[in-house]
Amino acid sequence: MSTNIHNISPSKVIKGEKAWEKSKHIISKISKRPLIIGRSESTKNIRNLFKEDLLNIDIQAFSCDLNYDCCESDIQKIYKFSKKYDCDSIIAAGGGKVLDAGKIIADLLEIKCITVPLSASTCAGWTALSNIYTTEGKFIKDVSLKRCPDLLIFDHNIVRTAPRRTLASGIADGVAKWYEASLTSSASQDGFVQQAVQMARVLRDQLFLNGYQAFSDPLSNAWITVAEGCALTAGIIGGIGGARCRTAAAHPIHNGLTQLAYKNKALHGELVGFGLLLQLHLEEQHSNSQLPSQAKSQLIDFLSLLNLPISIKSIGLKSVNPIVLEEACKFACKNDSDIHKLPFSITEKDLFEAMQSCHCVDKITA
Ligand SMILES: [Zn+2]
Repeated sequence: MSTNIHNISPSKVIKGEKAWEKSKHIISKISKRPLIIGRSESTKNIRNLFKEDLLNIDIQAFSCDLNYDCCESDIQKIYKFSKKYDCDSIIAAGGGKVLDAGKIIADLLEIKCITVPLSASTCAGWTALSNIYTTEGKFIKDVSLKRCPDLLIFDHNIVRTAPRRTLASGIADGVAKWYEASLTSSASQDGFVQQAVQMARVLRDQLFLNGYQAFSDPLSNAWITVAEGCALTAGIIGGIGGARCRTAAAHPIHNGLTQLAYKNKALHGELVGFGLLLQLHLEEQHSNSQLPSQAKSQLIDFLSLLNLPISIKSIGLKSVNPIVLEEACKFACKNDSDIHKLPFSITEKDLFEAMQSCHCVDKITA
């Protein structure tokens, strides 16, 4: 039997109401000079509050903002800042791309990593993986890290204030776990992978059952199950199942779509959800079963309820024409893309045709 190394979970997870408040003394035990990083103006007050809180308990906290997504220039900038001020941990507070940046910088510096997701839009606060983008937000690659964060703080009071669009995006990303993992890993003989795939199924069921209520009412119990499901459980699935049960077509299609220019920048899960519809369409083409087609119509209804894009026109592209879409298909179908882990072979042309003929996608004409 082969040997596998698993990065399953953060060393400690603190979740619930006022989790930040309860975490401060734990931070003081693992870090004396933390560097708080983030990006968006809308969450700057929260990061300033974190810094003040830490200074008030005599922790010498620093702060430095990212200029873009998780990209090489920002990684270099924060790396240098952290070295200059001799910081002993990174506290990444923000959405998935901020968390990814914090994790990879802490990994490079070999210092402690603390993630504080400010929304439930992805499971990036949990995993030992960072996606790297260009300064324009085009996906370049994912990087496996040495370990999961040392501490994850999931504060319900804070996450509840995030725009509900971020929760919808997290739900699409969470639902995708099952459709991607079951397609690539259901035949695996590895118990961990089998169990992770089943956990992804349970998560999908819970998101289907409670997703809309959570989206409509952040004060409901459903919100807790759903927000934690998207930001935490989805991470456990990746941690236990490993790379093999992570992606099929939805994420590679997301990676391809990030290569394009947007009027309004789409969130990760918005593109993954749309990629999932295309994945199910491709499965439909390559199977005699009715299941992919049923799953696709069920998903179209669900994504619509959450105001998520279900057509190429609604993902906010600057220009929707065949040349632009071919670029996305080309990237998604690169030789080393996970899309080739599908149980059937797929070419750029297949994907382009799926975009053209999939009934959930508006017909594109030159
Ligand atoms: Zn994802």
